[in-house]
Amino acid sequence: MSEKEQGPGALHATSHEGETAPSSREQRTAALQGAPVVLVSACLLGEACRYDGRSQRSERVLAALADKDIVPICPEVASGLPVPRPPVDLCGGTGVDVWAGRATAVERAEGVDRTEAFQRGACLAFDAARRFGATVALLKEKSPSCGSQRVYESGQLRAGEGITTALLREHGVTVLSDEDL
Ligand code: SF4
Repeated sequence: MSEKEQGPGALHATSHEGETAPSSREQRTAALQGAPVVLVSACLLGEACRYDGRSQRSERVLAALADKDIVPICPEVASGLPVPRPPVDLCGGTGVDVWAGRATAVERAEGVDRTEAFQRGACLAFDAARRFGATVALLKEKSPSCGSQRVYESGQLRAGEGITTALLREHGVTVLSDEDL
C-alpha cells in the first residue's frame, strides 16, 4: 500500500460537518481568543513564502496574536518546494478528497502533480502543532494548503478546505481563516 493510500495515520475521508469542530465564525474566534498557542500561516506574519515570492502580512492577524505564543508554518516550503513556485490548484475535489485519494494538487500551468509534497507539508504542520501544543490554527484563506472555507479547484473558487487544513481538522485542531478576523 502506498503512503498516499495509507495517509498520515488516523485521517479519515469524511466531511467535517456535524463534528465537534467550531462551525461558526463566532465559535472560531472565541477559540482563538482562548488559545495560548496558535499555529499560523507564515505568509500572514510577513514571511515571503507565497508561490509568487511575496508575503501576505496582515496587521489584523498580528493584532489578534499579540498575546499568543506563535508557531509559524508554511506547509509548502516545509515540504521542500521552492519560493517562488508554480501556482497549484486542487483537482477533483478539496483537501478532504485529496486525503481520500480522489483528488490531487496539480500545477496550474504544467499539470505537474504536487500532491505528495502538499501532503508532506501538511504532516509537518500537524507535527508542529502537536509538538508545541497548538489546538488552534490561523491560516491563509483560498490556499490549496491553508484555505479553510474556500479553495481553488481547477481554477474556480469553491467552498472547501485545503490539504493542511483538512488534516489539522481531522485531528481536532480548530482552524480559522484570516478572513474570520
Ligand atoms: S498560504 Fe500557507 S502554504 Fe501558502 S504561502 Fe502561506 S503559509 Fe505557505
